[in-house]
Amino acid sequence: MAAADLRATAGARLQIRDVAKAYGPVQSLDGVSLDVQPGELLTVLGPSGSGKTTLLKVVAGFEIPEAGIVLLGGQDVTLARPAQRGIGMVFQNYALFPHMTVAGNVAFPLEMRRRSRADIVQRAADALQLVGLAGYEHRLPRQLSGGQQQRVALARAIVFEPALLLLDEPFGALDRKLREQMQLEVRRLQRRLGLTTIFITHDQEEALVLSDRIAIPNRGRMEQVGSPAEIYDHPDNAFVADFVGESNLLPGTVDAASAGCVRIALDCGLLLEAAGDWAAGTRVGALIRPERFTPAMDGPNVVRGVVIEIVYVGSAHKYRLRLDGGSEMLVRLASGRASPLPGVGQTFAVGLAPEDVHLLRLD
Ligand code: ADP
Ligand code: MG
Repeated sequence: MAAADLRATAGARLQIRDVAKAYGPVQSLDGVSLDVQPGELLTVLGPSGSGKTTLLKVVAGFEIPEAGIVLLGGQDVTLARPAQRGIGMVFQNYALFPHMTVAGNVAFPLEMRRRSRADIVQRAADALQLVGLAGYEHRLPRQLSGGQQQRVALARAIVFEPALLLLDEPFGALDRKLREQMQLEVRRLQRRLGLTTIFITHDQEEALVLSDRIAIPNRGRMEQVGSPAEIYDHPDNAFVADFVGESNLLPGTVDAASAGCVRIALDCGLLLEAAGDWAAGTRVGALIRPERFTPAMDGPNVVRGVVIEIVYVGSAHKYRLRLDGGSEMLVRLASGRASPLPGVGQTFAVGLAPEDVHLLRLD
């Protein structure tokens, strides 16, 4: 297969060190450090306005930071022009050249690099084959669907074997099904070519599906960087816990502690056992993922509440319980279980293991 000729390019290591960038009074990046390993796919997952696009602009060379440096393949590129960096990019609304054919668009980065005619034709054909668009060479962008246009943009971004691939919410305009398909395609392509990649998104599912690691920015700083499982199961703080996945976060105080095990007195009156070593008296937040609960009448942690809402989401039922004392608990139970579950207004008892109570320091 010809596409194999576009061989694995050893992706470069990216090192971002203490980068700061302000727009007037807005500190868009406030001392960001981040490493992306060769061949790694790191997503930056954060809310709108958290500095994601600014970070990519600094890495790509469209913005010069006021402080800090960017190293690509060990070289300081902080002040290098964008074209000198060898970076491929796809943006949500990054228009293709409308008057150029698909082949012309994909060949463009190679023309800029003054590659030979034969090389250009071969590589452009390889890149189009990789994104599943062989045979579309002579179409114009407006003759393609949105998903096909983003595939062309992707082909154009990888055709010159970039040292780094930057994707800024590339599938934000696509419908859900196509978006999920494109996510898997990008993942496959990225692995196959060994591309060092930063993928920006505000969609947590997209980040969990795609990433080797996830970085969570907030107000121009990184709150946490870790594997999807670390981010989801062991968020460092309430911001990360709240932003990634649904969660119950209940404040309380460590009431009793023995080796590896603590009892938490929640402010709402509930007592919970949790794993971990915390000193008695410490103020903590107990993070509980809704899907960790199971129906249970006894065990170390039983939570009883009145069902105030049930939402069916296909794969699961989401219960909202009101506990004694008024606080609420979200419980998610997979659909299709045999025993009947309580309805709205009834009391429901659910349990969870101490390992499923994740404690965060509250300060
Ligand atoms: P994100 O991509 O995470 O949504 P951005 O990096 O685009 O966030 O923006 C971060 C902050 O910087 C926002 O408050 C935004 O309004 C501000 N900002 C970004 N670009 C500019 C600009 N060119 N001029 C002024 N403010 C900007
Ligand atoms: Mg953005």
